[in-house]
Amino acid sequence: MSQTLTIIIPCYNEELLIEKTYQRVNDVINSLPNLDGTILFINDGSKDKTAEKLNIIASNDAKVQVIHFSRNFGHQPAVTAGINNTLTDLAIIIDADLQDPPELFGEMLDLYNSSKCNSIYCVRKTRKGETFFKKITAKYFYKIMDRLSEVPIPLDTGDFRLIDKIIINEFKNLTEKNKFVRGLISWIGFVQIPFYYERDERLAGETKYPMKKMIRFALNGILYFSKKPLKLAIQMGLLSTMVAFVFFVYILYGYFYSGQTVAGWASTLTIVVFFGGIQLLTIGLVAQYIANIFDEVKGRPDYIIANKVNF
Ligand code: UDP
Ligand code: MG
Repeated sequence: MSQTLTIIIPCYNEELLIEKTYQRVNDVINSLPNLDGTILFINDGSKDKTAEKLNIIASNDAKVQVIHFSRNFGHQPAVTAGINNTLTDLAIIIDADLQDPPELFGEMLDLYNSSKCNSIYCVRKTRKGETFFKKITAKYFYKIMDRLSEVPIPLDTGDFRLIDKIIINEFKNLTEKNKFVRGLISWIGFVQIPFYYERDERLAGETKYPMKKMIRFALNGILYFSKKPLKLAIQMGLLSTMVAFVFFVYILYGYFYSGQTVAGWASTLTIVVFFGGIQLLTIGLVAQYIANIFDEVKGRPDYIIANKVNF
């Protein structure tokens, strides 16, 4: 009996390489024995020719499905839509820029079939052609995530992974908004094993994760997956209160015993600014969590689908 597999590919403005991506993924799928493959593209509101190109591909190949979003919702909502619309036993999530080689699908499937696991997450051994800045920020993001998160999120792992029906169904049942896909899959549990590989350069076009999106992504990952920053705020508050108390005792001592009055503003001002900073920081943190609650309470969907092709 052949296995059914959906390849989930989020795309945003990828007109330069979408055909190549389809070809390479399609070649790999056709070369694997006993496999009934579907290729599911999620067009995340692209403003270039991606939509037209995807529709042409889908009209020539019945195993290609396309979901068009009503606008750009982001990478994570696109992946979420992909998983939610998967009807097969297995799914592999992969980026459209082919930084993660589709030629690994075979090895991943072999590992899946021989190891009785529910998910295989692909761990990057190297990152070719990424800027020093991207490598450094990514490294610290994963480190901080790991320290803060209440469930372990594997280091150096993107969304490139294989998941089976059990994980897919659990994922579909999650009702929270702003899904941080890799964190949630890790949170779902069951048996998840690593697979090490070399990450390639982006084939064409430029990164769709500019600074602003990267910061939002990192912040969402942390705020949705950790309550530790809230504790940090309390700890900072306690520490600064203690410092202030020591200072107060010192001033009293100076006043009653050594007869000195406080000399100058500088020290006072420093303290005031210090506390102002800590208070703002704490309020800011709490506000972020409130904003998240606000998002959840509104209950808006993660994305809106304009139309589906070949479903
Ligand atoms: N992407 C998306 N919506 C967005 C941004 C990106 O669907 O708003 C897709 C993009 O087309 C690619 C994947 O997400 O397939 C990863 O994006 P990219 O390669 O630009 O990120 P990087 O590898 O630089 O982190
Ligand atoms: Mg990329």
